[in-house]
Amino acid sequence: MQNLIKLNHIYKAYTLGPLKTPVLQDISLTINTGEFVVITGPSGNGKSTLLNLLTGIDKPCEGEIIVNGSALHRLKEEELSVWRGLNVGIVFQFFQLLPSLSLLQNIQLPMDFVNKYPRKERLERAHYLLDRVGLAKQANQLPGQVSGGQQQRAAIARALANDPALLVADEPTGNLDSATAENIYTLFATLQQEGKTLVIVTHNEELAKTANRHITLHDGRVSSDQYQSPLQ
Ligand code: ADP
Repeated sequence: MQNLIKLNHIYKAYTLGPLKTPVLQDISLTINTGEFVVITGPSGNGKSTLLNLLTGIDKPCEGEIIVNGSALHRLKEEELSVWRGLNVGIVFQFFQLLPSLSLLQNIQLPMDFVNKYPRKERLERAHYLLDRVGLAKQANQLPGQVSGGQQQRAAIARALANDPALLVADEPTGNLDSATAENIYTLFATLQQEGKTLVIVTHNEELAKTANRHITLHDGRVSSDQYQSPLQ
């Protein structure tokens, strides 16, 4: 199996005036292509920070991060934003769709940003992705005109816009009721079956059971890392 993510001895601390707060302490991890990994642990233990390092939104103080063949700790800010647009899809708890754009336009935006697909294919691809997440009929609606679950499915379609190898999500069901959340787990499981690699931070135990690997962070360290049979 191919390594998609490799973290070597990662340290991260935030400095506020004279106060230095260690957040991640000596994290070393390898994640292979096609794994569905959930990260759990108490609040304030570095889960979101770890995701931000994987997407290049934040940088480690020490250590190396290789994702899909790129050494993120060495890339410059402008290189990172193009790299991110091509390699990673990000799903947030509060969806973060642009409210004045239709769902269709929200999905086209990341394609316009990186120019991976020719302009004339982008509209067709945006329709295809909305159809995949069951939102073909809502393509021209604004985010505020659809439900929370539909907004999250549109956000997942947006994350897939440039067909990234890695999908990361931070509490993707944190703002959804349990029936709606279940729809989202099913979608993640399907994406894994299609070969995507998923890394998801969650407090949702049901979602955690659908992954094939469960990592727990405690005090900025990996306190457990276990493979499991996913519940579908
Ligand atoms: P979790 O996702 O497990 O709740 P976080 O990664 O969000 O944890 O935060 C870990 C710790 O780092 C917390 O103590 C938080 O206050 C601190 N932290 C996170 N981001 C910043 C930041 N940008 N500046 C300063 N401290 C931060």
